[in-house]
Amino acid sequence: MSEMPSRTPIVAGNWKLNLTVGEALALVKALRAEADGLEGVEVVVGPVATALHPVAGALEGSSIGLAAQNTHWEDRGAFTGELSPELLKDVGCTHVIVGHSERRQLFGETDEGVNRKVRAVLAKGLTPILCVGETLAQREAGETLEVVLGQVEAGLEGVEDASAVVLAYEPVWAIGTGKTAKPEDAQEVHAAIRGKLGQVAPRVRILYGGSVKPANAAELLAQEDIDGALVGGASLRADTFVPIIRAALPGG
Ligand code: PEP
Repeated sequence: MSEMPSRTPIVAGNWKLNLTVGEALALVKALRAEADGLEGVEVVVGPVATALHPVAGALEGSSIGLAAQNTHWEDRGAFTGELSPELLKDVGCTHVIVGHSERRQLFGETDEGVNRKVRAVLAKGLTPILCVGETLAQREAGETLEVVLGQVEAGLEGVEDASAVVLAYEPVWAIGTGKTAKPEDAQEVHAAIRGKLGQVAPRVRILYGGSVKPANAAELLAQEDIDGALVGGASLRADTFVPIIRAALPGG
């Protein structure tokens, strides 16, 4: 008999380049009031680097995880402007977003660099949230699965236990655009990703990202292979983030 899937969904907020420390702390206060200690869903927030330490303090004693939005793969050295898994762990991060499409497109990140980051994050016992996704041109050219599965394979190269990684499928054309993949199209990609993951596949969380909002979250999260959401814009306010978290709850 095959292993029954039992995957606690994750709803992670990527705050991108937004929110001062004061604004971040106010948001955390609201989230703690409404989304702390929920059974059956993991909640993670991803502030800018300057807010990580104060937000970690504000999250102390809560069930809400803390994600950095990026890291370098080296821990220390002559890498001006970088942060490292060691330093992120030191300030209380539990997760690190790796290979977000904005990093790949705007900052020249390659599959090889993304893979080095994934392995460096795992080596410190943190959870990478590895982002993959196709551009509109690639989708229109019928290359979606080839691109996405190629990014998954490259990102996980040399990773012994892929279930220690959280994957996030984020079609580039759906990020920050208000366009969302149709639930059945997203499901098709998620199922294809899971099909690549071998024995641990039933345990790997695969999040969907791309203009997830309270209005579309339930339908997306109801898909068999969608195990949560990576949320940008709607994670910046409790009144839009909390309903998405609630939609991920069992029976939500
Ligand atoms: C993201 O930044 O990962 C994202 C999915 O953004 P948005 O929800 O704003 O499309």
